[in-house]
Amino acid sequence: MREPTSSKLRSVGTTIFTEMTALARRTGAVNLGQGFPDSDGPPAVLAAAQSAIAGGLNQYPPLDGLPELREAIAKTRLDHYGQQFGDIMVTAGATEAIAAVLIALCEPGDEVVVFEPYYDSYLANLAMAGAVRRPVQLRSEGSRFTFDPAELRAAITPKARLLLLNSPHNPTGKVFTREELDLIAQLCQEHDLIAVTDEVYEHLIYDGKQHIPLATLPGMAERTLTISSAGKTFSVTGWKVGWVCGPSPLVAAARKAKQFLTFAGGTPFHAAIAVGLTQEMGWVTRLRDDLQERRDRLRDGLETLGASVYPCEGTYFLQIDARSLGYADGIDLCQDLAVKGGVVAIPAQVFFDDTETGRRFVRFAFCKSDGVLNEGISRLSSFRSR
Ligand code: PMP
Ligand code: GLN
Repeated sequence: MREPTSSKLRSVGTTIFTEMTALARRTGAVNLGQGFPDSDGPPAVLAAAQSAIAGGLNQYPPLDGLPELREAIAKTRLDHYGQQFGDIMVTAGATEAIAAVLIALCEPGDEVVVFEPYYDSYLANLAMAGAVRRPVQLRSEGSRFTFDPAELRAAITPKARLLLLNSPHNPTGKVFTREELDLIAQLCQEHDLIAVTDEVYEHLIYDGKQHIPLATLPGMAERTLTISSAGKTFSVTGWKVGWVCGPSPLVAAARKAKQFLTFAGGTPFHAAIAVGLTQEMGWVTRLRDDLQERRDRLRDGLETLGASVYPCEGTYFLQIDARSLGYADGIDLCQDLAVKGGVVAIPAQVFFDDTETGRRFVRFAFCKSDGVLNEGISRLSSFRSR
């Protein structure tokens, strides 16, 4: 039989999250790999979903999502960032929003500038769209990750169509600064690029730092699609409620793809997330403070083990340098950690084109309950003595 996978998708493997979560189950290891919280979201949001189901909200929502959710998203973005959008479309998680946007906006052969390491679905979606990625590397410099402006300029060729920005950034935990965003905005305008921003960790930023949506910079609202989701904000990653916001013509293009990916779904969860956004942002602030404390706890544990831990300003994740634990390759460290140490982490090289550089990075998730996180830290400390 002919190779069943089309040439477009041959480079796409099983997601590292599926692989490592399966490894955790097989070995009984503590799962600090896949980024999902193991405690539930706000009780009022959970109750709202249950009463939406009991109340009969069980058929397709409108293609763009329940109006009450779209209004709640509009109001939240206005309150937090002063943003106003031509259009807002609810999607099946940020994942569908990203896929729809890339499929709808890219011609085959168009180039997309993306910061490396990048979230793994970008690679697959760019492959589906027939687009070519142009990675610009984020490097650790002292207390933060940043990029070289000359490398960003060089990555933008005449074939560039779009710039894909993830801030707060998975897996580095970087939050892009105003200065960095100014340069990105300037280059997008100079080269007529559409910006697509993945802001799923917008509310999970630590140490008093602030999230600045790229679309709020002068000249950017008309060329930016802003994507976010409820999964991380309300600890309901399995609900898959996301959204894409921007000028109407850009959202209209994404809608063409989205209507034939899922059409629409998740009606009762739309109703519940509307409750979350209008009534439960205080809960989110407490979640953020709690995650900051967990980040510090995991960092202390990793440092006690002798690991060099990279800075983390936001998200669910901390990265370490595998070399500090005597491993040249993060995959080998993750294998040993799972089998001998009883802890699963993610070898972050899978998020790199430049796997040689990526080999040193290993990512740990700290969005876990006390029991899981403390057990993970305790197992890490005995891993040292092996
Ligand atoms: N972007 C990034 C950077 C992520 O870490 C994730 C995973 N949560 C997603 C997008 C996907 O979001 P969702 O679960 O809402 O589809
Ligand atoms: N976003 C989560 C992470 O980075 C995982 C999402 C997934 O499993 N696809 O760990």
